[in-house]
This record gives sequence, C-alpha cells and structure tokens, in this order.
Amino acid sequence: MAVSVTINGTKTTAEQGMTVLEAAQANGIYIPTLCHHPKLTPVGACRLCIVEIDKMRGFSTACTVPVSDGMVVRTETEALQNMRREILSLILSEHPYTCLVCERRSDCDDFQTTVRKAAVTTGCQYCPDNGQCDLPKLVDYLKLREIPYPISYRGLPVEQDDPFFDRDYNLCVLCGRCVRVCQDIRHAGVLAFTYRGSQAIVGTAFGRSHLEADCQFCGACVDVCPTGALADKRGKWEGVPTSTVLSVCPYCSVGCTVNVQVKDGRVIRTVGRDDGPTNDGQLCVRGRFCVVDVVHSLTRLKTPLVRRNGRLVEVSWDEALQAIVQGLDQYRGDQFAAIGSAAATNEESYVLQKFARVVMHSNNVALAAGLPKHENAEELVDTLRTISGPLIPDIRKAACILAIGTNVFQSHPIIGVEIRHALSKGARLITVDTCETNMAKESTVWLQPKIGTDHILLAGMIKALAKERRTPELAKLDLAEVASTTGVKEDAIVSAANMLAQHAPAIIIYGSGVTHYPTGPNVIKAIRSLAFVAGNVGVIGVQGEGNFVGANDMGVHPTLLPGYRSVPTTRARKDFETRWEASLSATPGRTCEDILAGIRQGEIKALWLAGEVPPLKDLANLAFLVVQDIVSTDNLQHAHVVLPATTFAEMDGTLTNLEGRVQRVRQAIPPVGVSRPGWMIHRDVADLMGAGHWNYSSAADVMAEIVSLVPAYRGVKYETLDVNGVVRRFEPAVKAQFVPFGLERMPQLVSDEFPFTLITERNLCYYHGACLTEQVKGMNLVKNEETLQLNSSDATRLGISDGTVVKVASPYGNAECVVQTSSAVPEGAAFTSINRVTGSPLFPTFAPTTKACAVRIGERSRRGEV
Ligand code: SF4
Repeated sequence: MAVSVTINGTKTTAEQGMTVLEAAQANGIYIPTLCHHPKLTPVGACRLCIVEIDKMRGFSTACTVPVSDGMVVRTETEALQNMRREILSLILSEHPYTCLVCERRSDCDDFQTTVRKAAVTTGCQYCPDNGQCDLPKLVDYLKLREIPYPISYRGLPVEQDDPFFDRDYNLCVLCGRCVRVCQDIRHAGVLAFTYRGSQAIVGTAFGRSHLEADCQFCGACVDVCPTGALADKRGKWEGVPTSTVLSVCPYCSVGCTVNVQVKDGRVIRTVGRDDGPTNDGQLCVRGRFCVVDVVHSLTRLKTPLVRRNGRLVEVSWDEALQAIVQGLDQYRGDQFAAIGSAAATNEESYVLQKFARVVMHSNNVALAAGLPKHENAEELVDTLRTISGPLIPDIRKAACILAIGTNVFQSHPIIGVEIRHALSKGARLITVDTCETNMAKESTVWLQPKIGTDHILLAGMIKALAKERRTPELAKLDLAEVASTTGVKEDAIVSAANMLAQHAPAIIIYGSGVTHYPTGPNVIKAIRSLAFVAGNVGVIGVQGEGNFVGANDMGVHPTLLPGYRSVPTTRARKDFETRWEASLSATPGRTCEDILAGIRQGEIKALWLAGEVPPLKDLANLAFLVVQDIVSTDNLQHAHVVLPATTFAEMDGTLTNLEGRVQRVRQAIPPVGVSRPGWMIHRDVADLMGAGHWNYSSAADVMAEIVSLVPAYRGVKYETLDVNGVVRRFEPAVKAQFVPFGLERMPQLVSDEFPFTLITERNLCYYHGACLTEQVKGMNLVKNEETLQLNSSDATRLGISDGTVVKVASPYGNAECVVQTSSAVPEGAAFTSINRVTGSPLFPTFAPTTKACAVRIGERSRRGEV
C-alpha cells in the first residue's frame, strides 16, 4: 500500500514499510550514509542519515524510521548539515583524512601533492580502495574542507597473515558493516567489535587469525567495507576496474551471479551481484577469491602442442588440428571415447557429444565426474531431467529442512547461507549424516544412520507418518527393526518425521552422499515418497560440479542424446540423424569408469579429454590422446596433442545450475594466449574430418541449434537472457507421489582384510578436481594438510595419534594420509575430502563414483614410503 510523504517540500508517495531513507532514494533524494547497506538490517549507528521529521522530537535516523501517511521530512537543513559535518569530522579524526579534504585531491595522481602533505604514509595513493572508497562522496556532499581535530592515527600493524584478504584497521571507520554481514547475512559470527570506547576495533574473538576463527573466507566483509580497511590480497592494488562483465561462477552447481571486474585485459576481481537470483550478492571463497588465480594461472596452456620425437612442441592451431585428424581417423567407432567436464558450458558440451556421435560414430562420451553406474542408475539421471523446484531462495522461507547425504555448509556454501537464514527465523533442520559434520552440529535433530541404510531410515519416517499401507514391504516394516538396522532410535525417527510433516513449507535437500552409493536409486525414491507423504515437501538435489545438470541436458552421456532422448530408441536416433544429417550408432556407449576399463584392456585406442579433467591413470595404454584443458596437468605426459582451452572468463556460453536455471557466461577478457572455446575446437576438427561445415560462428549459434532440438531450452535466447537467466523445465513434469522402493541393504563393504569404511565428501577448499587447490595460493594455505579423520577410539586401538602418517590400503591400491582423530567420525569409519581421493589409488577410478570403500589403516609410515 502506498502512503503519502512530503520530502523537502515535495509531496510524493512511498510504499508502506519503506524507511524514510528508502523513500528518499526512491525519489532520487540523496541522504548521506556510512553504516547503511541495503542488504543489512539498519542500525542507525553512524548517524549521518539524520533527518528532521515533523511531530518527532530531535533528529531521527532515516535508515531506521519507517514512513507513515502524511509524514513531512526535511533532509538538508542547515542544522542537519552542520551536525553531519561534525559527525563526519569526528569519524575522520581517526582515519587518515588528508587525502579526503586536500584541495589538490583531483590532481594528486599526477603530482602526489596530497600524499606529501600527510604526516604518515597514508592517503589515496597508499589506499587499496583508492577510487572506490565511500568517504570522498560524503566529504564532497558536506563540503568538508577542514577537520578541526588532529589525526589520531592508530598505528596498528596491517594484518596480512590470512590467505585471501588483508586488514588495515587504521582505515576502519567502525561502521560495523563487516560485523553485521558476518553475523546477519553469513551467520558465521567470526567478526565482532572487540574492546569499547576509543579502543574499539573490529576483530575475531581473542585476536585469533581468521583461519583459527574458522572463517570461511567468503569475502562478504571485504565487499561491504566502505573504506580500504579490508582488501582482497590478490586485487588489492589493481584499483578501479575499467569494465565489469556480468557472468556466472562455474565452480559449483549453485551458479552464483558475479561481476567480473577487468583492467588492462585481465580479470582483477570477481564480486557477487546484488541482484543475483541464486546468491543475493553473496559468494563463497571459490567464486570470490579463486577466479583470478585460475584464469591467470602460471600453468595456463597458451598454445597448441604436438608430440614430436617424444616431446611436446609448440605448433600452430592448423598443425594441431591436422595432427588430430590424422590421429583420430583410424579409430572411428567404439575404439574412440571422449571424457567431458562438468565445468564446460552447455555449448561446449553439446558440440563435444555431437562430435563423438556424428564424426567418430561413437556413443563413448561421458562426464569425468558423472553419476555412478549402479543398477537402476536411470533413476538418478531422471532426477536431473525432472528438476522442478523449489528454487534456491525458497530455502530461506522453509520452516523445516531435511538435509541428507550432503554437507552444503562446506560443499555449496550459498545453499548453506540459505539454510542459516531459515534457521535464524526459527526453522528446524534435520540432518541425516553418518558423520557429525558442522551442519549436523547446527541441526535441531541429527540422525546418524549406519552407512548404506538411509533408505531404510526414510522408510521408517514414512511408516511413522503414513496412515495407509503404501507397499507390502512398508506394511510389514517394524520401526523397532528400522531402529536396529539403521542405529537410529525409534523415537528419533518418529519425531523427525513429525517435525517434517508439521512444519510447512518444508524442503528436503540431498547430495552425492545419497546418489553416489549403490543404494542411491532407492534413496531417491524414498525421498520422493517421504516428500509426498509428509505433505508436498519440496525436493532439491545438490549436484557437485558447476554445469553438471547442463552437461547431462546436452547429452554428455553414453546412453542419452541431448534432452534425455535414449540412444537405443530408434525414434530418438532418427530425429537426431535427420537434424544432424548423419547416421548414429545404436550401440550404447561407455561410462567414464568403463572407458577407463576399456583403456586398460586395450579396447579404447583414442581418447579426447575435453575440459578440466583430473589426472587419469592408464593413459599410457592409448594409441592417441588429445588433451584439451586450461592448465597443464599430469594428463599431458601421455598426450599426443594438447589444446589450450579458454576459461569461463574468456568466452560466451551458458551454464545450467541445480535449479535448472540457464544463465549466461559472458566473455570478459580476450582469450589467454591463443586458447579457444571447446565448441570451436570440435567444430573445426569436425569440418576437417568431413562432417560438412557446422554452421556455428558463435556460442549463440550453437545455442540456437540446441533450442531447436531440446524444447526445454526454448526460452534461452542470448539477446534476451538477463541476470535471472531462464529456468528450463522438461515435460512432462514429475508428479508428487508415493514411489515404491526396495529395502535391500547395501552389500557389506568391510572385511577382515579391509575393516574400515572410508567415507568421502566434498569440502570448501578442495573442489573441482585439484584445479583450485593447485592454482590458488590461498587455498593451499587454508588446506594446511590433507587429513584422514579417524574416530579417537579406533585411533587409540591402533596406537595412532594426531599427525601420524599412515598407510591406507584398499582393494585397489595404497595411499598415505595424515591422521586427525575426531569424534565426528563413527567407529569403524574413516573420512577424507573427496579431492584427497581424486586420482587416489584407493578407488577403482580416478573420480570415485561411490562415496565409500573398504580400507585397511596400516602401520605408521614415513612420508613417501607408500
Ligand atoms: Fe561459485 Fe558455488 Fe561458491 Fe557460488 S557457491 S561462488 S557458484 S563455488
């Protein structure tokens, strides 16, 4: 409802509920602020936004007072301006101010006049926020020419011991934005005001480093700081960007919207977009601080390489493409395979699978980190096709959230922020996890089922709720038996079930801890059934990699064409044959695991690794290997041709996030070296191999073809795709219903020889293969040591203490790990980060498609003994 307000003599309207500040801003009236930030709860602390309001005593802060009908406000009286000048003078008396009030400020860049006037080495030229600071605008608005107080320079040492940002509290104006964003938006509670009065300062409890204070390095504090007090280490002295490009973070399936800041043809920074539909301005450490190091990595591949006389030598693109044509020509058919990356754009993924199918006549095209090949694995793929909501921002509105098989606080921090928003408003959180993760610790209820019994636990919850007997198995199900099988007490099962059913709206969030177990298909069905029985609860699947959904939509799958059309189905094949003017193989292709097995057995002779693929074993067996990547990896050792690929910052394209939202990636800088996007590379090789000219001159052209073949993408048009993207939906939509599921237990993993179950999960720092940790210096500082977490009593029994290096053996191989004892891991289990096992000999393939394997924890070893 609109109310009538008079501001500075002009009658206007404002929405009820708006503050005076918002009403003024909506009417183009400037009111100075410092502590205010549109995303933060107003506190009226700096008092610069004081206004005069008729019938109100004194001076009210515009950021805290709501408008009311008939309100009369004055924002710029002489009394107000004088008071503001005094307030700002006092604030600046503890901030180096010469740079702000100097009459030569505008030509300081040329003559450094201002800097030379300063008593201490401060001033714009020495401030990381030079050109971006909020203070000059305030000083100019208030016409502050002189500050009647001496500078009280605090002389605090600049804190530079944290991995991603530096803190110079000599520049802090105590506005408290960083404290509030850390507390109210991120719910992290790392920052607070410490001390009081003239000693007041922002910091961590007990003066610990951010690392010790469990900071997640999301950078939200840096982004809201109005001065140079907080500055990211990497882009600190880069100054004002010359251009800013709207794009999407590719490092996980949340798909956070970012502004890529560019200067001199280089990415200098990425910051969250306030209007981002999935992230509401927030990012995690990966999107905020890792992009620059990855894009401008010293190990970036910049030119094509071809192996000659055993050595990789630089060649032109023409020579590299000709070498590929010669190398691949003899291996058309099932001897060829392509492994794609979920970091690739939809356009790259689409052209990759088309190349494999049309040019190489092979359906051996799979994702490096695809879904596991379990019995009934199609149930898992179907969860991608049938994504239908809720959306990420709906999580904060939930009254109850059940999280199973995922620790999003670590793996998908923005989903974690949404959950914490819901918790701050009183929502219940039920966490189902074998380990006591930080999410489990913050839960209302933590259910700790034995490994591989999730679906039985969910069946127990359904049983506790369902009036009717849904299936014969459920009718027979005895809750006491569920309790003994899962290890979760009967009353905990019943109370969790009731909690989910009684607090609407509710959402179930699941992740790879569900999908990557042999029981995955049954757990998925159990989740759908529980969601239905509990009363139309929303379900969100949290896939790991950035464009995992999009890559599957595009047909980077051995048995599925774009749009989830089945390869063995004649009708589907015919449709694509007609459009692609080619005949397609009806033989289903190999999954990534099977491709690797085929390489070992000599059945796959030629392989194309397209995109960011972690190091693989057995590549030496190949007759011909093409590696297309952004950085140099161990995979190059066996490559015959190496192709430099562009990162997301250097190309146009789209990514599809876990909501099914298709978002634009926009080229921000020229390609590094002569790197090219994947779609262009495959188009050119296809042309040389006689496929006829694939008529794409841009990523938009590729998308136009995708749209013509995949109706769910029909709304995706480059020219109209704005910050919100387009949410794709496949028809028919999945119905909320009870889905019968089996209650078979997972086959026993452990044995006398391998008595421990090794559980893996993604974490905040180890992500995207080894790429981030290898390229980003800060990540290496954070990760400290890759550890194997072991229950304290197991460790005692084995005579192992914290920091011991142990040999770990699985049926597939050995590795060495540093032990960290923990009560968070149950007895008989061990836990490690998924990136610790990426490429590890402990699992049968380089990217484990199962989240658990049996291991033996052996005797202590010296480093490098394994
Ligand atoms: Fe990027 Fe995911 Fe982090 Fe968002 S949550 S910034 S998409 S890695």
